[in-house]
Amino acid sequence: MKLTFLGTGGGRINLIKQIRATGGICISGPKNIHIDPGPGALVRMRNKGMDPLKTDIMVVTHSHIDHIGDAGVLIEGMSHYALKKKGTLIASEDALGGEIKGQKISGFHLSRLETVVRAKPGETFEFEGGKISFKKAVHDDFPAFGFVLEMGGKKIGYTGDTEYFEEMPEEYAGCDLLIINVMKPFADEYKGHLTAEDASKLIGRVQPKLAILTHMGLKMLRYPAEKRASEVEAETGVRVIAAEDGMEIGESEF
Ligand SMILES: [Zn+2]
Repeated sequence: MKLTFLGTGGGRINLIKQIRATGGICISGPKNIHIDPGPGALVRMRNKGMDPLKTDIMVVTHSHIDHIGDAGVLIEGMSHYALKKKGTLIASEDALGGEIKGQKISGFHLSRLETVVRAKPGETFEFEGGKISFKKAVHDDFPAFGFVLEMGGKKIGYTGDTEYFEEMPEEYAGCDLLIINVMKPFADEYKGHLTAEDASKLIGRVQPKLAILTHMGLKMLRYPAEKRASEVEAETGVRVIAAEDGMEIGESEF
């Protein structure tokens, strides 16, 4: 099993200026899973020599455009040029239609999928070779979620976009790898996202084998991110990496 970080940037300025990319994360293993395919995901995938036709499962953890931007085009890949009914989409409620605000995946693209899963925190979706448990996330008033993926004998947690909440360490207990969307190095007056201070608290309690900080905003990148990651590592005793665009992590590292 291998993880490829297609995009590691977060925040609205970064999204438009693409200082860091916004393509999400691909997990290649018993199933190929693409998480939060933001704008540029398709191009970044092709630059890495990856084949969108081989994606089995796409996960969209909420409908902000930096998480859903390339979902439609990549569903056309997953469904073999939109000629077959193929692939699984796991998405937040508002991404799948209805009146709730947020970007939608088009009816045409939804019709090309074999399976569509409306992710609700507390529920689990099982697939051949693994399962994914949906976790709570607090992100403005968007119906966002995080998840724990169990596949290939490993437990991988992904927070999605969320602010810190009390039960968070319980939700991610037992994870071998924890991927955390860390927008800022330190807390400020704006909520809705995790800071590196929150990440330190979470990592310290969960004690995964490896923690990766990603979806970083400009303040985090300018700190710089590597320095903030090594501070969190010193605080928690857990190996912590600040992700870089194109970074690959093999399962031997967690
Ligand atoms: Zn968001």
